[in-house]
This record gives sequence, C-alpha cells and structure tokens, in this order.
Amino acid sequence: MGYLELKNLTVEFSGFRAVNEVNMTIEKGELRTLIGPNGAGKTTIIDMITGKTKPTYGSILLDDKNIAGKDAYEISDKFKVGRKFQGPNIFDYMTVEENVEVALSGYSSLLKTFTYRRKKNIQEKIDEILEQINLKDEKEILPNYLSHGQRQWLEIGMVLAQNPEIITLDEPTAGMTADETYKTGELILNVMKDKTLIVVEHDIDFVKQISEKITVLSQGEILAEGSYDDITSNPEVVRVYLKT
Ligand code: ADP
Repeated sequence: MGYLELKNLTVEFSGFRAVNEVNMTIEKGELRTLIGPNGAGKTTIIDMITGKTKPTYGSILLDDKNIAGKDAYEISDKFKVGRKFQGPNIFDYMTVEENVEVALSGYSSLLKTFTYRRKKNIQEKIDEILEQINLKDEKEILPNYLSHGQRQWLEIGMVLAQNPEIITLDEPTAGMTADETYKTGELILNVMKDKTLIVVEHDIDFVKQISEKITVLSQGEILAEGSYDDITSNPEVVRVYLKT
C-alpha cells in the first residue's frame, strides 16, 4: 500500500477521456516526475489530486483515505496537499517577506497583517523560508522587482509556508533561464527532500537533475515508468515524446 495511490483514475470532459484508468503508487517522501506530450493529462491528474477537477470515476487514496472528489480547500487544509499553480499567486502590493508571512499565517489573516506586530517565532520562520528560497536579500522589496525565476521561488516559498505533506509543482521551471532552472532543481532536492513531491516538467535536463522515478503519460494513459535511464532508452517513449 503506497502513501498516495491513484486507482483507475478517470476523467471525461464532454465525453472526451482526458485521463483513462490511471494507476499510480507514490511512496511517502518520493519525488515523482510526470512527463509526456502536451495534452497527455499531466495537469489534469494534478487537478484531480488537488481537488480542482472531480474525477468521473476512480479513487485517490492518501494514507488509505479516498480524497477523490473532495473540494480543493479541504484537500489542502485537512489533507495537507500543497500546490504551486502555473499562474501567479503573489500579492504584488506586499513585500517579498509579507507574502511569505501571509502564506505562513493563513490567508484569512491577510487583513490582520498590517495591524499586528510580527511575533518572534513567525519572523524566524519567515527568515528560514527566505533563506531556503534564496530571497533573503530581497525580503523588503516588492515582487515586481524580482526576476521571473525569483518570483517562482517566492511562490514555492509560499507553498512551503503552508507546511504541506505533499507538494505538486506544475512546470516549476517554465520561462526560467538555465541558471535559474538548475537552482530550482537544487532547491527542490535540498529544501523539499522530506516532502512527497509530484512534479510535471518538460525540460529534460531538469528532469534528469531531479528525478528518481518518472511516469510517462500519453493520451491520458501511462506509457512507461522508471528511472531517467529506463525512460530515455525506451523506444516507445522516444518515439512518442522525446523525439518531438
Ligand atoms: P498536459 O498537462 O499533459 O499537457 P492536460 O492535463 O492539460 O494535459 O490536458 C489533457 C487533455 O484534457 C487535453 O486534451 C485538454 O485539452 C483536455 N482538458 C483539460 N482540462 C479540460 C477541461 N476543463 N475541459 C475540457 N477539456 C480539458
């Protein structure tokens, strides 16, 4: 019995089967990378795990409890599944540090942020996260002055602040420079090593850098599963994905 088990997970959109009877077992503390051509169903799987999309049928067992079809708030709050979205979640009118603080204290405290004195233990936690995401020197600036890569790290920091057990990252390096991409890999490997991670990614060098086990999806189904070497030497994966 794995920590996170997808069983016959299936979703249809107006009769079109985007994810078809996917079975996947992810162990606690594992880093699983999902790759595959556009439209393969990778994001939709993350959407179902995080509650954004309800499966048509199938189950998602987390520690043996079925979370399939539960709403996103409950999945993140009660089941501790964190998500970094492709789009931005940063508050641009707050400093880098305040953004981390809001994520730490829970978004409901947003309005309180400016009226209460920051408690010492919160400040320590903020500093720890800023250190982890390499933004200590930028803590007092507004996010607009960050590079694209730094903004992505801030978003990762905001996910970390919520202390999830499972973190899903959908194309965390999209739009990053090669240097930022590499640093993101280091961040994932060092800072998130105790978390269970599901990472959707296209950049094959980055996939090589971070991956333990890779699941290749194509047309809503699992095409192959294995290490980077297994996957890159699999003729079917090369034909369907790596050659394109
Ligand atoms: P990937 O992340 O692998 O690129 P997606 O999971 O985004 O693929 O999409 C899988 C398929 O499901 C695509 O054909 C996409 O157009 C379709 N799809 C995803 N979400 C919806 C939706 N809300 N309504 C209709 N079709 C969708």
